Amino acid sequence: DEAIELAELAKRMGIKANEMIAKLMGMGVMATVNQTIDYDTASLVAAEFDFEVEKASFEEEALLNVVPEEEDKSALETCPPVVTIMGHVDHGKTSLLDVIRKSKITSGEAGGITQHIGAYNVETANGGRITFLDTPGHAAFTAMRSRGAQVTDIVILVVAADDGVMPQTVEAINHAKAAGVPVVVAVNKMDKAGADPDRIMRELAEHDLLAEDWGGNVIFVKVSAKSGEGIDELLEMVLLQAEVLELRANADRKAMGYVVESRLDIGRGAVATVLVKQGTLKDGDPIVCGLHSGHIRAMIDDSGNRVESAGPSTPVEIVGLAGVPDAGDEFVAVASDKDAKQIAAHRMQKQRAKELAKKSRANLQKMFENL
Ligand code: GDP
Ligand code: MG
Repeated sequence: DEAIELAELAKRMGIKANEMIAKLMGMGVMATVNQTIDYDTASLVAAEFDFEVEKASFEEEALLNVVPEEEDKSALETCPPVVTIMGHVDHGKTSLLDVIRKSKITSGEAGGITQHIGAYNVETANGGRITFLDTPGHAAFTAMRSRGAQVTDIVILVVAADDGVMPQTVEAINHAKAAGVPVVVAVNKMDKAGADPDRIMRELAEHDLLAEDWGGNVIFVKVSAKSGEGIDELLEMVLLQAEVLELRANADRKAMGYVVESRLDIGRGAVATVLVKQGTLKDGDPIVCGLHSGHIRAMIDDSGNRVESAGPSTPVEIVGLAGVPDAGDEFVAVASDKDAKQIAAHRMQKQRAKELAKKSRANLQKMFENL
């Protein structure tokens, strides 16, 4: 599974793709520009041009091209949806996250007290599972997306029933649209005297969010974060929406996923909360995360328990990285510590080259300005 596109290899070696095709032909290998060639073939042809192929960069290519579609479909299992709560300030995002967190049904451990690790997983009354990112706010959502991390599967849009659609409501709708993420509307504060859910439905219809009751396909749920009314229904509706999305992942492979939060801890060093998207992350796994490498020295779940492994859609705090990654950075588990180090070094190098190029561009510009 270690492979690289012929065109990419040629580019990295600074030779023409045609030259490489010709050389391969001379070696008895028929290839086209868009074809992927394996590590062994690449090493041989590279040697012909006096290049040595590092296995690390190959693994990076292979790992970064985690394309579930290419996988054995029978290995795919349904996984919990990952949900972000968005909405206008004071409409009840934090209150909703709190009441949902408190409703967390525990499987015996730790008394159900969730640790703040940036995300948590709940079991619904009907036994379904949902993962919530508990960093509400549009900034986090866009920051992740700008790094190419598609972490959220469903957005819960909170609108206060006594207030209506406000500027940040519209902003949230636009973020969800841009990301192609479906919206489930939580009409909150239903306990309040001035609650007018019909008005919310009307106003949202103007933004292309047409309620099912009105012939559209958007799920609306009336809730109160204060009384707890409608919360169970909201969770079940999120699962219904998730069913439509057919979210599936292969747990039986090396893990990949994204950083949700990170920080430097005085005692433990770099600490990151990651969300596993594919595969199963295991204690001791060598990993590359952003520009950093390391291996999992400890994994802590959202109840504060140490765990040995974490499957798809599971958030865990990990310890063992050599440096602090950024939110939205991708992580991948690799075969060995050596590979992890090589890939990280390779990325650092690329990063430095990029910065140097930027600096020299700036210098050039300054030169011109001074002429
Ligand atoms: P956020 O800015 O969207 O995170 O909103 P908060 O969760 O901080 O809520 C803003 C205010 O609305 C707080 O004073 C909450 O106690 C209150 N609030 C949130 N949900 C409800 C609700 O369902 N009913 C009532 N009556 N008040 C609520
Ligand atoms: Mg808040």
